[in-house]
Amino acid sequence: MITAHVKTKLIEIVGRENYDDSEAGRLVYSYDATPQFQSLPNGVISPDNAKQVSDIVKVCNEHNIPIIPRGSGTNLCAGTCPTEGGLVLLFRHMNRILEIDEENLTVTVQPGVITLDMINEVEAKGLFYPPDPSSMKISTIGGNINENSGGLRGLKYGVTRDYVIALEIVLANGDIIRTGGKLAKDVAGYDLTRLFVGSEGTLGIITEATLKLIPMPETKKTMLALYQDIDAAARSVSNIIANKIIPTTLEFLDQPTLQVVEDFAQIGLPTNVQAVLLIEQDGPEQVVERDMQRIAELCMLEQAVSVEVAQSEEHAMALRTARRAALSALARLKPTTILEDATVPRSEIAKMVRSINEIAAKYDVNICTFGHAGDGNLHPTCPTDSRNHDEIERVEKAFAEIFEKAVELGGTITGEHGVGVMKAPYLELKLGEQGIAAMRSIKAAFDPNNIMNPGKVFAKESRKRVVVTR
Ligand SMILES: Cc1cc2nc3c(=O)[nH]c(=O)nc-3n(C[C@H](O)[C@H](O)[C@H](O)COP(=O)(O)OP(=O)(O)OC[C@H]3O[C@@H](n4cnc5c(N)ncnc54)[C@H](O)[C@@H]3O)c2cc1C
Repeated sequence: MITAHVKTKLIEIVGRENYDDSEAGRLVYSYDATPQFQSLPNGVISPDNAKQVSDIVKVCNEHNIPIIPRGSGTNLCAGTCPTEGGLVLLFRHMNRILEIDEENLTVTVQPGVITLDMINEVEAKGLFYPPDPSSMKISTIGGNINENSGGLRGLKYGVTRDYVIALEIVLANGDIIRTGGKLAKDVAGYDLTRLFVGSEGTLGIITEATLKLIPMPETKKTMLALYQDIDAAARSVSNIIANKIIPTTLEFLDQPTLQVVEDFAQIGLPTNVQAVLLIEQDGPEQVVERDMQRIAELCMLEQAVSVEVAQSEEHAMALRTARRAALSALARLKPTTILEDATVPRSEIAKMVRSINEIAAKYDVNICTFGHAGDGNLHPTCPTDSRNHDEIERVEKAFAEIFEKAVELGGTITGEHGVGVMKAPYLELKLGEQGIAAMRSIKAAFDPNNIMNPGKVFAKESRKRVVVTR
């Protein structure tokens, strides 16, 4: 697909050392964090700046070569799997923090910067960037923006979308545009910044982003509430919010997840209870004290077995880190780990957790559930083995039913992981035919030759998971 002539042109743009079409090089970028998807690209390219990205895109547009922008490849929807071949575009040279503006409270970065590195830099200046995906030690800001990623602090502070205020984008024809600015107010034309957030590399390539910062909260407290009844834990989530308290973090782990997380992290998590809520509040000291006391009372009213406040920042950090390790811990159980992120209005959490357990029993599969309960964003996770075809078929049927249930309860098929290839067959469940048609027309307007991450978001077949191998 990439002829010798095109290869020469690409090498002229980035230099020989930044273009790799060796078998080993292509194999490395043939998959991402999503199980069961693999497909070889034709080449891998590493530009240094927006001008080079633009020149690459012009070549690809002229020759109809798919481009797959790739951060760290930690997405869980096969969003960077080169299902139609083409060129994987890396941002390893575009990973600088360009500016921290303490007057306007913004940070401007290149897309390849690692999320946690940026968070640490801004925190050193007493500033706060709240979106904290559990993968933040390795994920990039470009990936976070394109998946509109969330995290443990999403309940109170929102998700990546709420912090992106300006972008530099290379469009599919090679044009470089700038959207937004360091502005609190800006209604000049369509909100292209928002359109590109969560666009999964299908509309253009982000080469620079300006993100909003806020002052660092004064204090923070962390608490664990333990339950012998999953419904009681779910009811506590609804009650806390109904009592007009918005904690920073309100995370849920069921017993099987607790067990594997404790085996992995070994920090003394209770494993003899059916569910745990990890609750955090931040802000002025008095407010945090008042909220945590009220939250503890509400949890006890819902028959929590006990409520424990972390006695030191080290203990609190260990609890947060253990929660963030849930996927890695579950991944130790079986060769294949399928993690989903069906999301429901938070008032429906109890019903959804119950339904997940019933569906798992119906298809005789093991599903552990954890997630951002305050956001209604659950991660039913199935440790399985892709070589066991009978079991995989049952797992897929179970997840299809879980998505249907989530939509039936007013929810969605994905709260933060994106659609990619993996969820594309289910998108119609959420948007309907007309919704998909509207999105297709946006895609066609921005990318008429369908070179930007093709095969993602829009499914060839509806409602059926498609396993791709080349
Ligand atoms: C252990 C683990 C924990 C996770 N926890 C969370 C979590 O708590 N919350 C959450 O939301 N997600 C989570 N994820 C999913 C994943 O980490 C996020 O989606 C993350 O934002 C992906 O970042 P990345 O740099 O790896 O991007 P990639 O996976 O490389 O790319 C993601 C998407 O962005 C596109 N893209 C990347 N850079 C650009 C660019 N510059 N321009 C245009 N398109 C681009 C890609 O084409 C792709 O569609 C987790 C994943 C793992 C493995």
